[in-house]
Amino acid sequence: MKRRSEFAGRFHLDSERPPGFVFRERRKGILRGGADFVLHCDDVPLPKLVERYGTPLYVYSATAIRERLAGFVSAFQDIPHTICYSVKANSNVNILRLLARQECGFDVVSGGELERVLVADRRAAKRVVFSGVGKSRDEMVTALKAGILLFNVESESELWVLAECATRLRTVARVALRVNPDVAADTHSYISTGLRKHKFGVPISSARELYAKASGARHLRVAGVSVHIGSQITDVAPFGEAMVRVADLVRDLRHDGHKIDYVDTGGGLGIDYQEPGLEFADNVAKYARAVTDPLRGLNVHLLLEPGRSIVGPAGALVTSVIYRKEDDGKRFLVVDAAMNDLIRPTLYGAYHQIVPVIQSKSLVAKKEIVDVVGPVCESGDFFARDRELSQVEEGALLAILDAGAYGMALASNYNTRPRPAEILVSGKSLKVIRRREKVRELYSSEL
Ligand SMILES: *Cc1c(COP(=O)(O)O)cnc(C)c1O
Repeated sequence: MKRRSEFAGRFHLDSERPPGFVFRERRKGILRGGADFVLHCDDVPLPKLVERYGTPLYVYSATAIRERLAGFVSAFQDIPHTICYSVKANSNVNILRLLARQECGFDVVSGGELERVLVADRRAAKRVVFSGVGKSRDEMVTALKAGILLFNVESESELWVLAECATRLRTVARVALRVNPDVAADTHSYISTGLRKHKFGVPISSARELYAKASGARHLRVAGVSVHIGSQITDVAPFGEAMVRVADLVRDLRHDGHKIDYVDTGGGLGIDYQEPGLEFADNVAKYARAVTDPLRGLNVHLLLEPGRSIVGPAGALVTSVIYRKEDDGKRFLVVDAAMNDLIRPTLYGAYHQIVPVIQSKSLVAKKEIVDVVGPVCESGDFFARDRELSQVEEGALLAILDAGAYGMALASNYNTRPRPAEILVSGKSLKVIRRREKVRELYSSEL
């Protein structure tokens, strides 16, 4: 176990994610060989959760979520802003409620996500922005009735459908156009969105014309400019570039006589899955500078839509080793979680750090090179390939770290596998925020 940096007065291991996931010593008595390190979520040892709720199990730290949100708020304190957490990263109602209690807003991309927010906290509607390229009339009507803050409109056709819905309800829809700034971001091609070739937004070059049309509609109120260039972006420069273009557009639009109150900078700030530092505050500060520098003097209210950077490191997927398997010298750990529970490695070739939940202090753990795979009938069903891990036995618990974002949200029932339970831990207390599915529920609507 490598020690890498000091945090809050003590050293931490590269396999820890303070304040959420930290190893703590468990004394076993001298006769049984000293002490073990046991991975905790807040103050609760993971083996205790597994005893009660089984595996695979998603576990989240409320403390980590709160602290990361607070990190954003503090980094952006110099500019009026609202954090609109991107619901699609992790849409559990209890996590939304936790965030709503901190006065957080929400970015939704479907009527379903909006309903989740309203169930979590009806009063959060006024802090909701609605994004997405294919909003339906029904979804727009629901959002208008709920009184959301802003529609991020992505095409001229959508603009007219929204105008029609607002007219029918005799209300006014506040709109921003999501512009496509034609900025390249270094991320996986599936989650890059800010280039002309992508389906998202309207080209920034034709935005002025469309704003002019929008402002002519009685039931629309032009209120802002919005942008979102992609996800898992770790270099902050593209965020700055996009914002320079947005700032120019805001000046042009004001010159044209529009009242632009809001700039929505989207989400996309990446996290380090490989070598996570403990310097979240530094990263957000850098991000804040890149985004706010171009907006200086514009006097706008900033909307931010972080998803992954709030919940990613705050969650882990805990799984048991079912079998060890060795074929021709190639070693596999077959675990009870699979690609249906966490698809990021399969879908994006994503890396997740994997650590044994219990690490022995007295024995120097032997390392081995393994593939960590699930039981699903696909060769793409893996969590790690040729990974150096401490040797563990059948029955051992592993934690797949940084699984709080786009983990459960992307889970499926492929192979008729019930989705895992989810546990939210806050200090010493814990709550089952989603019970484990039963197989019968998976086919009952077919009978
Ligand atoms: C996905 C998405 C986000 C959140 O992205 P993260 O990478 O999770 O921060 C924000 N805004 C929009 C419009 C999105 O589609």
